[in-house]
Amino acid sequence: MPPSMRRLRPDPTRGTAPAAIRGAIREATRDALAVLLPVSCAGCGADDRALCGACRSQLESQPVLRSLSDGTAVWAALAYDGVVRRVILALKEQGRTDVARALAVSLTTAVDRALLHAADPAAGQIELLVPPVSRASFRRRGYDPVWLLARAAGLPRPARVLVNLHERASQKSLDRAQRGTNLAGSMGSPLALNGRRFLVLDDVITTGATLSEVIRSLREGGAEVVGAAVVAATPRHSLGLSSELEITRDSGALRGLR
Ligand SMILES: [Zn+2]
Repeated sequence: MPPSMRRLRPDPTRGTAPAAIRGAIREATRDALAVLLPVSCAGCGADDRALCGACRSQLESQPVLRSLSDGTAVWAALAYDGVVRRVILALKEQGRTDVARALAVSLTTAVDRALLHAADPAAGQIELLVPPVSRASFRRRGYDPVWLLARAAGLPRPARVLVNLHERASQKSLDRAQRGTNLAGSMGSPLALNGRRFLVLDDVITTGATLSEVIRSLREGGAEVVGAAVVAATPRHSLGLSSELEITRDSGALRGLR
């Protein structure tokens, strides 16, 4: 009996029989697809599914709080290192949209934390926002990775209120100071944003330059920014100020979203 069939047997320790059967069917379908469309693990390259079990276990969220130099709170679910880094780069640079769902779980965790700690949650609805991608990156990839993650996470549709005012050079080869200069004044909003509140989403925070520019643009438009939530943060990277907090997760926080 193949392993996928063995899982069809109801296991009293693991949920209800229908759930177990659904899981088994999902597993069997994935096995079949792996034969038809061979894929390698985005984390380690092993011939497997999109993510092998070992790499998937490295994506267990361990949220940390970072602060931008202006004090804005940034919640990150994972450390941008090792397997996490390779999986995120696979999504961003290798067209591996098949890992979006796994990373989306981490984005949800970060969003959840950010909403829990957003100043004055009763002050009104909070909208999600993803940084506008440059036309060149969108052309190269054919999709917007952060938008894709937000949708894969089942989050409310992020607002599109910011635009790129001029094309930027790729941030990848720039140092911290150059990134800031490259981005300064590069975004803006054609709309008046007074009275609107935003939580900014992103895949990775490295120097914080992108998030800082997004937040500056939103505030310039009159909006309030309650914080940011990202999948991963560069570990031990100085963002002006950083700290770690351990706070109990409350999944009910997502209900505060528009
Ligand atoms: Zn792997």
